[in-house]
Amino acid sequence: MEKKQFQTESQKLLDMMINSIYTHKEIFLRELISNASDAIDKLYYRSLTDDTVTLKRSDYKICIIPDKESRTIKITDNGCGMTAEELENNLGTIAKSGSYDFKHSHEDGEEIDIIGQFGVGFYSAFMVSDRITVITRAFGKDEAWMWESEGVDGYTVTPCEKTDAGTEITLHLREDTENETYSEYLDTYRLRNLIRKYSDYIRYPICMDITTEKRNEDSDEYETETTTETINSMVPLWKKSTKDISEDDYAAFYRDKYYDFEAPAKTIHFKSEGTATFDALMFIPSKAPFNYYTKDFEKGLQLYSSGVLIMEKCGDLLPDYFSFVRGLVDSADLSLNISRELLQHDHQLKVISKAIEKKIKNELAKMLESDREKYESFWNAFGVQLKFGLYADYGMHREVLQDLVLFTSSNEDKLVTLKEYVSRMREEQKSIYYACGETVDKIKMLPQAETVISKGYEVLYLTDDIDEFALRMLANYEEKTFVNVCAEDLDISTEEEKATVKEENERSEALLSAMKYILGDAVSAVRFTNTLKNHPVCLTSEGGLSVGMEQVLNRMPTGEEKAKAQIVMEINTSHPIAEKLKMLHSDDAEKLASYTKILYAQARLIGGLSIENPAELSSLICDLMI
Ligand code: ADP
Repeated sequence: MEKKQFQTESQKLLDMMINSIYTHKEIFLRELISNASDAIDKLYYRSLTDDTVTLKRSDYKICIIPDKESRTIKITDNGCGMTAEELENNLGTIAKSGSYDFKHSHEDGEEIDIIGQFGVGFYSAFMVSDRITVITRAFGKDEAWMWESEGVDGYTVTPCEKTDAGTEITLHLREDTENETYSEYLDTYRLRNLIRKYSDYIRYPICMDITTEKRNEDSDEYETETTTETINSMVPLWKKSTKDISEDDYAAFYRDKYYDFEAPAKTIHFKSEGTATFDALMFIPSKAPFNYYTKDFEKGLQLYSSGVLIMEKCGDLLPDYFSFVRGLVDSADLSLNISRELLQHDHQLKVISKAIEKKIKNELAKMLESDREKYESFWNAFGVQLKFGLYADYGMHREVLQDLVLFTSSNEDKLVTLKEYVSRMREEQKSIYYACGETVDKIKMLPQAETVISKGYEVLYLTDDIDEFALRMLANYEEKTFVNVCAEDLDISTEEEKATVKEENERSEALLSAMKYILGDAVSAVRFTNTLKNHPVCLTSEGGLSVGMEQVLNRMPTGEEKAKAQIVMEINTSHPIAEKLKMLHSDDAEKLASYTKILYAQARLIGGLSIENPAELSSLICDLMI
């Protein structure tokens, strides 16, 4: 019998399949089932206008028949079938349009992506088979044909018998090896799982004979019983109209699919028919998964193309700041693009991911508006991620995120939005004030926070490492700049107060530079201030880097040079210590040195910082005590 050669391109692809080290060989089943479903579609659509097709909608089906004895799996369909010519054209060459560029597939790594995301159709069956037999009869034709191939050395096409139109594909499974157990595909349980995983939403029934063991009540013996079951559920939940889906349906779907026993905080189900046509079903979990804030966590939505799972986790569909969202996207547009340039497909994904981002943002904004309690609980789980989003990419995502972030505020210690803060700002208030620290309680004890609050201003309490970085990146909100209460340029004094303290500083210049000299590099200056209420000292920072930011940066495990904030020690002019220092300056240089060091240590402690030399501090204090 004449053996025909595959077309060059097909041969390359075939070669790739046969020698594939791809770990998810299981996708071959998805590919063959999708082909069968397409073939049925073709006949079904023809039946709408062609009376010679007598099959009813309910007559169509796909059957999967594993046979352990012969080590084969049969996949049958009663779709349109193929003529001899079609067999040649479809299975002897690549049906996909010529523009599909296989050059990529031969570069390392790329191969895996192409197989995984789109499969490569019929040929993927060679990943698990060493011989494939296709028997097919085209609808309306009398003759049937058999196509057979053992891989690269070609294929044969011969006439054969087949009663009805349709196709029957027999895979002769490869022998098991040390690394691969192909025989697992003969197991009905395994096949059932694969069908449910990849092809659950194929519109026609996928049937398989399932044999179960049952005990006979009378004879007390085990008997086997075989029933034909429809394995797939056929209509995907997300394809149904929202009015036909109950909360329970969503909850059950979410639980089964994402193994989360807690109901989602929010279900987002929508259809888009704009620049991209797709259905999306997404969930915002109530709690962060245990690995959410680790590098093990992988973001992404499932990507379906007309009900067929293409990719388990498509990361490109979700921005990092919404990485907590679970769910799926189903788009018919994608399947068209698969056979065209990959680039085009990328563009489509971008359009979809933009639409998804917008939707998630709007849903969160709605939740914030209508159910504050729920939003705050969402915020506790995922707020940090949103704040990272504000900081990321040079603040590019501010429009999406700035109205979704919350901070605890001095206003009743409640979480507030930036909008709420600004709406309450006093007329003369120029800036949005914030203070940083480990906890809200510690921040409240900051002398500067106390001062700003006592003047009647609201202060945001920042307790997460990312907070100040995020606000600095944002720089302003509704044209109000963010100002750290511990910053040198905190401008809350009257002109008169400013003039008084300026004079005081000028008068005491000698004392202040002596103190700066004592502290050396630890501070960039020592000054008097009249903004503190009761505290003797505090630390403020000059320039771009705050003390808090310095701390965060230096905690990071980079080999780089340590960050250094420009720290100014400020002494309260109205505190008795001010007079004492002036006295010591004129008659006891040694005591001035120890007082200065002790004050600096105090300022660090009050500011929530650790002290550099506790032993020295202890002996300085002791010396004063004895
Ligand atoms: P694709 O499905 O992506 O076009 P395949 O290599 O999987 O590529 O299949 C090639 C072609 O073979 C299909 O386009 C279809 O025309 C034909 N074909 C495959 N399987 C069947 C089937 N079960 N019934 C009818 N035609 C089929």
